Amino acid sequence: MLHIPKPDMDARAVFDTCTATAKPLTARTRLQELKDAVAKAAAEYDTAAAKQALHTLTHLKDQPDGESDKTGGINGQLRKTYTSRMVHKKSAGRDFYDQLLAEAPDGRCALCGQGIADTLDHQLPKNSYPLLAVTPSNLVPTCRDCNFYKGEQAPASEKEQTLHPYYDSQVHDFIWLQARVAGPPKPAVSFRVVPPPDMPLLLAARVRHHFTTLKLARLYNPQAGPELRYLSRSLRRLPPAAIVVHLRERAEDWAAIEGPNSWQAALYRALADNSWYTLDGYREPWK
Ligand SMILES: [Zn+2]
Repeated sequence: MLHIPKPDMDARAVFDTCTATAKPLTARTRLQELKDAVAKAAAEYDTAAAKQALHTLTHLKDQPDGESDKTGGINGQLRKTYTSRMVHKKSAGRDFYDQLLAEAPDGRCALCGQGIADTLDHQLPKNSYPLLAVTPSNLVPTCRDCNFYKGEQAPASEKEQTLHPYYDSQVHDFIWLQARVAGPPKPAVSFRVVPPPDMPLLLAARVRHHFTTLKLARLYNPQAGPELRYLSRSLRRLPPAAIVVHLRERAEDWAAIEGPNSWQAALYRALADNSWYTLDGYREPWK
């Protein structure tokens, strides 16, 4: 997960802009009457997200009309406020959509750190939480894979919350991504979550849930192959005694640049710690 500062946008003002020109007029009137309810829901969301407790907002589910139907009634109009009045190219709220998307670090997905951020994901899905459909702090720039794998699931428990790029920066105070290096005959790498003993249990459980839900091993594992082949060539130019130091420096550099739980930092940590790799394995597959 990549940390992004919480959007500096007022939820009520965003909702007001998106709905001020809504058609038909009957829908616009009903939507504009909900400004206070939307602002209140956004404030509750902010408090809950800061406490890792979005699962407690069950009283907002299917509100205000209690209907879970996707298209009908005022809940349908609220969901449509996102799709037609914020995402649509010529809609009143499109500038907000573009601003939120532009905050993706280097244009990358905030949930996996790898994919291209070309959509916004509702941290709490709009189908279940229509009042939060255009709440800026509920909209995160992501890739389409993460958006798809996260799906329409609302968190069922405190542990079943994926990480939130606006609220969960403390997750990077701990090193929890580990690369496993297999070999001989050739090095093969896989990534997994191994929380340290001093990591709070809830945060550790959420990291596991995030990693599993978004299928991040599937995304990170294939990155290691080209990196190992590139590394093999550059390491063979070094004196053997310099290899461990070089790998540790690379691990520190990646941790400083991409974070301690980037696949690159995890890979270089694991390679530096692997005596078979640093003595002989790095020569594969080129020797
Ligand atoms: Zn992604």
